[in-house]
Amino acid sequence: MMARVFNFSAGPAVLPEEVLRQAQEELPDWHGSGMCVAEMSHRGKEFVSIAEQAEADLRALLAVPDGYRVLFLQGGASSQFAMVPMNLLRGGDKAAYLNTGSWSEKAIAEAKRFCAVEIAASTEDTRFTRAPTPDELTLSDKAAYVHYTPNETIEGVEFPFIPETGGMPLAADMSSTLLSRPLEVSRYGVIYAGAQKNIGPAGLTVVIVREDLIGRSLAGTPAMFDYKTHADAGSMYNTPPTYAWYLAGLVFQWLKRQGGLAAMAAINARKAEALYAAVDASGFYTNPVEPACRSRMNVPFTLADPGLDQTFLTEAKAAGLVTLKGHRSVGGMRASIYNAMPEEGVRALIVFMQEFERKYG
Ligand SMILES: *Cc1c(COP(=O)(O)O)cnc(C)c1O
Repeated sequence: MMARVFNFSAGPAVLPEEVLRQAQEELPDWHGSGMCVAEMSHRGKEFVSIAEQAEADLRALLAVPDGYRVLFLQGGASSQFAMVPMNLLRGGDKAAYLNTGSWSEKAIAEAKRFCAVEIAASTEDTRFTRAPTPDELTLSDKAAYVHYTPNETIEGVEFPFIPETGGMPLAADMSSTLLSRPLEVSRYGVIYAGAQKNIGPAGLTVVIVREDLIGRSLAGTPAMFDYKTHADAGSMYNTPPTYAWYLAGLVFQWLKRQGGLAAMAAINARKAEALYAAVDASGFYTNPVEPACRSRMNVPFTLADPGLDQTFLTEAKAAGLVTLKGHRSVGGMRASIYNAMPEEGVRALIVFMQEFERKYG
């Protein structure tokens, strides 16, 4: 078997090795069915049992309260940028958005196709290096909902609090943070996430939506963009992304074996603290984000001499540390350290960074 690298990609991202081994084991013949999961009818009893188990495990991990539906969809988080206004405006003509980085900007641009967008807070003037403080939020009561991005994957900025909306439904793009720690689901109207960061493979999008927000979509909403369609059909209105759903289910079971989300939160905090400490202790690496708002999932950093970026990437790769190149809009490096990145991988990265600094710093 080929040696695995430590993959710091922002997404599609590393999956737990145990999950990959289990999938390999079950690939040609799932539980004596004689079929690969990818070959099964989504309406057959085998796949229905896989789907139901995955939903039950996800609900248990997040302690999803009654009154919420969990949907397993396609289209990525980017489709949710449209589905959120189509479903949550409910006759209203205005929505409030917090603008905290590249993914917020995309969500805002899409919402503007459907309604007036009120910017309830923006950190653009500080180049998206922080989250707003709670008292910076200006919310009028005319918005149908409030949208924000708890973890900005590109800038590496994370909210240290849940925005208070005074009763307006809160919608959150949790693509790069869902399952990284326990979550108070009851504070939200809609939570959505593309799976390829912290849940499973690309192709699956998880949506958790409060039941009272389902069923009042904008006139003309296509069936596939209406939460009601999918809620009524148990996410099987059409063919769901069956294999991705199955793999996500294996990840949920793996998370339960790790001790659930409280255990993951502790591990993730240790990984992030160690990496930020190494960056801060050096005179060579820099992270521009305000310490209280630093992401525990995506850690961008720059080198004192950007002329060394390519050397850094080449030597990191030779050391088995891959996909560290920062997003093109930010430059430098970015280490994404989702649930499936072992602590060992973060330690190896820190050792490599220290050696690189000694050599070139
Ligand atoms: C990756 C990402 C997206 C885009 O997800 P797709 O599934 O590719 O559409 C949106 N928002 C955030 C916060 C992301 O990290």
